[in-house]
Amino acid sequence: MSLRNILYVTSEAHPLVKTGGLADVAGSLPPAIRSLRRDIRLILPAYRSAIANAGRLQEKSRFSVHGFDTTVGILEGRLPGSRVVVWLVDSPPHFDRPGGPYADEQGRDWPDNAQRFTVFARTVEKIAWDEAGLDWRPDVVHCNDWQSGLVPALLTQRRQRPATVFTIHNLAYQGLFSWETFQTLHLPQTLWSMHAMEFYGQFSFIKGGIVFADMINTVSPNYAREITTPAFGCGLEELLKSRSDRLTGILNGADYSQWNPARDPYLKKTYNAYSIERKAENKADLQARFRLPCEPQTPLIGLIGRLVEQKGFDLLLAILPQLLQRDVQVVILGSGDKSLEDRLKHATLTYPRQVAAHIGYDEALAHRIEGGADMFLMPSRYEPCGLNQIYSLRYGTLPIVRRTGGLANTVIDANEKNIASRTATGIVFDDATPQALLDAVDRALALYRQPRLWKKVIFNAMQQDFSWRRSARQYLALYQRAQSVIKETA
Ligand code: ADP
Repeated sequence: MSLRNILYVTSEAHPLVKTGGLADVAGSLPPAIRSLRRDIRLILPAYRSAIANAGRLQEKSRFSVHGFDTTVGILEGRLPGSRVVVWLVDSPPHFDRPGGPYADEQGRDWPDNAQRFTVFARTVEKIAWDEAGLDWRPDVVHCNDWQSGLVPALLTQRRQRPATVFTIHNLAYQGLFSWETFQTLHLPQTLWSMHAMEFYGQFSFIKGGIVFADMINTVSPNYAREITTPAFGCGLEELLKSRSDRLTGILNGADYSQWNPARDPYLKKTYNAYSIERKAENKADLQARFRLPCEPQTPLIGLIGRLVEQKGFDLLLAILPQLLQRDVQVVILGSGDKSLEDRLKHATLTYPRQVAAHIGYDEALAHRIEGGADMFLMPSRYEPCGLNQIYSLRYGTLPIVRRTGGLANTVIDANEKNIASRTATGIVFDDATPQALLDAVDRALALYRQPRLWKKVIFNAMQQDFSWRRSARQYLALYQRAQSVIKETA
């Protein structure tokens, strides 16, 4: 069976539009697959920001889709920095507006999200049947997260179809809508069933992917196991367990062309594993940027991420009074829940010499934190893969992480045995409690005070290779499996 044409369906892709890790993956996995000599094309909504960042675009076709009055255009361009073809789904009433891809500037979900991602899915469906005037037919359609969950469901409506793969980047975001909303979408009524996309009285986009895709994966092997348990399954654990023969985990890679301290244009001083002493200048630069005292010996802890319960920022806030009795500085970059933002701002006012935060989204500052901090903290309650700990390894900014999801697959604890065997790359702790977090940071601080050991662990960390090449090969194998399972069931 031919495996040449792959349609990669995503609701965000760096550098066109980004809210989190999915954008990083969508911006780097397709080029890695293309370099394995496949014709992979990216499709995403033509948000205003995506159009602005895409460079030259050309309208390739325009057509109507089932259930909607307006026509949809396909704008073709290239993913910046690569040869990968990008198709933007141009439906101005749905996507041409200010704000984010899923929510307005105040963080409120767009009220028409169900319609927006149904138009998107209907467009993908048309391309999958080669009925969109593009003269191209995918062998595999690779969907990601709830925004494209409808696609595998729609594609099973016909017999001769491409294979489908569904990747779960975060199971907690499910795309749930009411029965009344479902009625406005003009979808097959059979989808409203507990065996299809109905979920406790609501319409669940993510179930479309989980129930109907030929193969399902998550972004780390550990998270693939975790989501079949009640603690991580968000109510979908039994369904996922019932499909466990189709469920795997493939660790995300890092795009080392973007995240490499030896060539990072955002850093004051570039460095590598053999010139780690140059990191000190980045630290001074970061301390100055955040108006913290420029103290070279004081350990500096960085955090970056969406300010949501998942990421465990509240655990950090809980330990701050005790933590700051130690000689330590903390810098935080993030945005999200207003209450967490307020509590962080309050902490910076209470401890201006030790805590600083930038509330907002800032790509350049994210790089400067990776380059300048000594340690990087990720006390996540759950973490499907996590990228910042992978970047931190490469930047010699030792990660302190909870043993969950992809964090457990990527960071090796600096216990005595692992230090001796040169495998230790960070600090790993188990419980999502303030005390466990404080103990972990204390272990990191103790290690920091032993420069010889500290440097040894940094060296191991910087040698780790989580590049996309390996993961891209695993995705090709997953596509092949998806093709073979539909053949068996056809
Ligand atoms: P998630 O997908 O749950 O948000 P990941 O760790 O997988 O978490 O990916 C987050 C990505 O978004 C990383 O590249 C991280 O650097 C980036 N990021 C998150 N918040 C910010 C921010 N406020 N400013 C800059 N980059 C951010």
